[in-house]
Amino acid sequence: MRKISNILLNCWFPRICSSCNRSLTVKEEGVCFYCQQYLHKTNHFHRKNNVLFLQLAYRMNLHSVQSLYFFQPKSIEQRAIHELKYKKNMQVGNFFGREMGRRIAATPWLQDVNGLIPIPIHKNKERERGYNQAQVLCEGISEETQIPVLKLLSKQTAGKGATKGNRMERMNSRKIDFQMEGSIPSNVQHLLIVDDVITTGATLESAFTEIRKQFNGKISVVSIAHTF
Ligand SMILES: [Zn+2]
Repeated sequence: MRKISNILLNCWFPRICSSCNRSLTVKEEGVCFYCQQYLHKTNHFHRKNNVLFLQLAYRMNLHSVQSLYFFQPKSIEQRAIHELKYKKNMQVGNFFGREMGRRIAATPWLQDVNGLIPIPIHKNKERERGYNQAQVLCEGISEETQIPVLKLLSKQTAGKGATKGNRMERMNSRKIDFQMEGSIPSNVQHLLIVDDVITTGATLESAFTEIRKQFNGKISVVSIAHTF
């Protein structure tokens, strides 16, 4: 049922560029070809020891981390991600997901990935938005690579007492609470966590910790953009 409502949501959305609002041609999706050339691309899919990986690898035992773009304020990627998260624009999510999929298919150290895990949003937010943007990205990756999406992680209600205590206590109480709602299939050897934007890495760390409780294989990460 959700799948059908998502398809309808996608069909009803006007085919315009998420950045410049120009009508898209039949060959364009999400972001027009003109705007695409101004996206701030990273080199992550060419260099395993990229800056983002080096920033996160000392905090968690990741196999690799890749973002498509550097997140710049008031940029094309910022406008496009805003459309995906807040304007019900699933087309642009599919565009980014398929772009991720094509990059993954061409990256030597990601050839054995055989499961995608979308970072979840709280179910109330998902109901309000109509979809989880990371799930849309995963479906785009899957279209290009046929890697299955494993919707196993869920986000719980935020911790209580978030406004009490000193700054450090408040930060700890805000720790994002994820939970696994099923088992990772035994044939899975390399999981790819998929998120929209990596900012502090705290969300990722919480998801990683939860997945690690039942999975000893390789864990990699891909996101649309990162801010540091
Ligand atoms: Zn455009």
